[in-house]
Amino acid sequence: MTAYAAELEAALEAVRAAARVCRAVQQRLVTADTLEKKDKSPVTVADFASQAIVCQRLAGVLPEDLVVGEEDSAELRAEDQAGLRAAVAREVAAEVHGEVDEATVLDWIDRGGAQADTGRYWTLDPIDGTKGFLRGEQYAVALGLIENGQVVLGVLGCPNLEGHEGPGLLFSAVRGQGAREHALAGTGQGTPLHVAKVATPGEARFCESVESAHSDQSESARIAARLGITQEPFRIDSQCKYGAVARGDASIYLRMPTRKDYREKIWDHAAGKIVVEEAGGRVTDVFGNDLDFSRGRTLEDNRGIVATSGAIHDEVIAAVREVRGE
Ligand code: AMP
Ligand code: MG
Repeated sequence: MTAYAAELEAALEAVRAAARVCRAVQQRLVTADTLEKKDKSPVTVADFASQAIVCQRLAGVLPEDLVVGEEDSAELRAEDQAGLRAAVAREVAAEVHGEVDEATVLDWIDRGGAQADTGRYWTLDPIDGTKGFLRGEQYAVALGLIENGQVVLGVLGCPNLEGHEGPGLLFSAVRGQGAREHALAGTGQGTPLHVAKVATPGEARFCESVESAHSDQSESARIAARLGITQEPFRIDSQCKYGAVARGDASIYLRMPTRKDYREKIWDHAAGKIVVEEAGGRVTDVFGNDLDFSRGRTLEDNRGIVATSGAIHDEVIAAVREVRGE
């Protein structure tokens, strides 16, 4: 049997299920009012429900596996959060087509409370790009499998990315087996995915965060100018940026640190990194160093992210270093 076949099938099912929950919540609960009132409750409900569903699915197939999720149930367990608890349980019940009591949902969420270590663990961002989710725009459900500090498998659900069969794309990759793009709905095995080769960095389109607090957009503009890039940046929330590079909608993803003390979170990059690499691209930090997933919940030894279609990577890193004054 192909290596990681069971893990891949479980991850695809888990992310598809979680994405259905997120999509239902975004369509039903995110309104014009949500942004106006700075009401974060829809994303909170979807975030917890998404983590519960992914952990429940993985537990059914791979009960021994550890999951390092972004969320834990502490906030939900607070006495004054009965309304939120009930809302999360309702969304989970709708997905599993049955009654689920709140205690069970809380336990599923806490299955995602493992410590990241140097062995084997999954890492989950139940909703990456919460700001995009609340704007009614892009977000992702991101699930990666790490072994000995290396990502070996990743699945990235992007409910609002436009595919050939309508909105909703799913990206998957297994180390050494290539990357694939699937329609989010359905059960298809997908089609092979490849980065777009550009001859020189100047021809590239680059993507970055919508949120200037998450990536220094003035620095990336200077890097783009240095590389001779004339196209406007493609700003898009979440790990959809990795999807964009993997499918050739962009050839560079720049994530330039805005603060010296910020460390990138493992769940923000695990799935996206392997999808880009297996599509033929490269992913490092801003120094050109490999990402080290063996240092706990953060990429402790890395700073920022640079992902490219591959051949241009060294040139892009050289420009990044020059602009940063290294
Ligand atoms: P994006 O959608 O690319 O803007 O990234 C969203 C992610 O940014 C969230 O999941 C956060 O974990 C992460 N984040 C929060 N603060 C920062 C920061 N100061 N620098 C970089 N990433 C951040
Ligand atoms: Mg995130």
